[in-house]
Amino acid sequence: MLCDELSRIRSQTVPFFSSSRSFTNGDGFPDMPSFQPEIDRRRIMVTGGAGFIGSALVRRLVGNGRHQVTTVDKLTYAGNLESLPGVLDRANHRFERADIADSDVMRRLFAEVQPNVVYHLAAESHVDRSIDGPQAFIETNVVGTFVLLAEALRYWQGLTGTAREHFRFVHVSTDEVFGSLGEQGFFTEQSPYDPSSPYSATKAASDHLVRAWHRTYGLPVVITNCSNNYGPYQFPEKLIPHLTVRALAGDSLPVYGVGANIRDWLFVDDHASALEAVALHGRIGDTYLISGRSEWRNIDLVRELCRILDEEQPRSDGVSYTAQIVFATDRPGHDFRYAIDASKLESELGWQPAYTMATGLRETVRWYLTNRSWWQRILSGAYRAERLGLLETVA
Ligand code: NAD
Repeated sequence: MLCDELSRIRSQTVPFFSSSRSFTNGDGFPDMPSFQPEIDRRRIMVTGGAGFIGSALVRRLVGNGRHQVTTVDKLTYAGNLESLPGVLDRANHRFERADIADSDVMRRLFAEVQPNVVYHLAAESHVDRSIDGPQAFIETNVVGTFVLLAEALRYWQGLTGTAREHFRFVHVSTDEVFGSLGEQGFFTEQSPYDPSSPYSATKAASDHLVRAWHRTYGLPVVITNCSNNYGPYQFPEKLIPHLTVRALAGDSLPVYGVGANIRDWLFVDDHASALEAVALHGRIGDTYLISGRSEWRNIDLVRELCRILDEEQPRSDGVSYTAQIVFATDRPGHDFRYAIDASKLESELGWQPAYTMATGLRETVRWYLTNRSWWQRILSGAYRAERLGLLETVA
């Protein structure tokens, strides 16, 4: 049934306000913090809204009930309409399968949707894939962002009054644009750009383009750079779901190098709440760094994941999942440490994460245990959890 519905949507776009069903927050969505009612930001376009973070944002915005949300997504290998359960048939949601690099389509969508806010998350996002095939990263992250900016600018220049004043283009980027830290220090909004991988280089390029469209043309943008995200609906090639799935299958748990690399982790719903705060209250032209101040060495994170799995789904032989950990050849250009000082976001906008790693990681593990069909369907398709990023097949 769901499959039929998804096939229909994949082959055609859904008419705007296609359902007469009313929406209430008591329908499986958590209550959302209230928006300032005087601010009219009800028509929202989310690019990449069928991806991991974009879908969390779309579920949240649609769940709010006060906004008309349009998800624009090309549905690459990473896009998945099954990450939008309970959203696709909502009256306040529209899905458009589209490539952000297609200027004709994007122009039509801006004219139809008349957005007050654009959240730009569409991207090629996987570092290992960028090593094997960087071209798609240039096409979407650089050229796609350029096309989107050009069409956003054209649309914004045609607005007047409060519609023009309230329009925001929120560009969602990564802390990886700042390169690698040593043992000490943190990334801040003043950190110089120093990307290491094709992925982070293209994201850095997109940040520069967005900033230039503000400084040169006045487009009201806000840029965010966030630390590593985790949570439900993350594609199973990313670290936490990848290891969870492999642990359950009894496979080895590969850790790059000796697992000393450090990442700063944020639960995906906290990223979504930060993006809302930035869109509403962020200063135009400014950058906000987003993080949960939760640094973990990779090996410690993997051991913590195993500990939670031992409690939630013990192995039949009683042995800890840590027995499956193996150490793999490090990847080229592997940044040692990312860590963000999120003081600006916290002090200016009053944002705080709702999750700690303890609560977020357990919720994530439970989600993957109870939603096996979501990831099993991905694994049974083109993606086979193969090892990527070893420079063997650079396109
Ligand atoms: P993802 O790969 O899960 O999702 C990306 C989405 O973009 C997919 O649905 C895909 O179909 C869509 N897409 C790709 N190319 C497109 C195109 N040309 N036109 C339209 N749609 C296209 O990525 P994610 O992890 O959800 O990341 C979303 C954004 O957040 C990215 O810009 C990423 O750089 C940034 N970010 C991610 C993290 C993280 O830890 N995952 C951290 C900080 C920032």
